Amino acid sequence: MIKHDEGYIKFNIKWEEKAFDLSLYDFQNLNTCHDKLYNIGLIGAYPNLIGFGNISIRATGNKFIISGSATGNIKQLSEKDYSLVTKYDIDENLIHCEGLTKASSESLSHAAVYESNPEIKAVIHIHHLEMWEKYIHNLPTTNKNAEFGTPEIADEMKKLVIQNSGILIMGGHQEGIISYGKSINEAEEIILTYFNKI
Ligand SMILES: [Zn+2]
Repeated sequence: MIKHDEGYIKFNIKWEEKAFDLSLYDFQNLNTCHDKLYNIGLIGAYPNLIGFGNISIRATGNKFIISGSATGNIKQLSEKDYSLVTKYDIDENLIHCEGLTKASSESLSHAAVYESNPEIKAVIHIHHLEMWEKYIHNLPTTNKNAEFGTPEIADEMKKLVIQNSGILIMGGHQEGIISYGKSINEAEEIILTYFNKI
């Protein structure tokens, strides 16, 4: 985690607890992807019930809709389990969000990907140890010393997204993998292609 005394800025969230406008189309697209990834264990919860994995789609500009904090262990998400990130500041480690749930604390990693390329419309973050071990340094991998949730990792990610591989291994976040694409289907297919090769 981020520690103040080591010079990192603590993750900050400004949450407006109110429903936002989530279209049925977007909701269904998100949930179809979520269900598939949940069923094969790429999104889920550890035995201690801590959830992992999150998915998002771009709204307008650099705003995006993301599965909420601590929703990894929910089998079927409802509208209230999504949050809209309306604004963020990577350097300040700050996000603003609206929704009946708070946006994931991993939102800034999604933000970094969206910011890198306006054509990217969806981002998926999964955890899988075997995939991570197989692909680390074989696919674009962030520096293991860049701690997750810091401005450094966001910068690293932006540099790697320019390669447009559709996938990133998070070197400093064990099990962590990100995929991205022009649609949530595309991002999902990229993850599944690599998953099916292990
Ligand atoms: Zn993660």
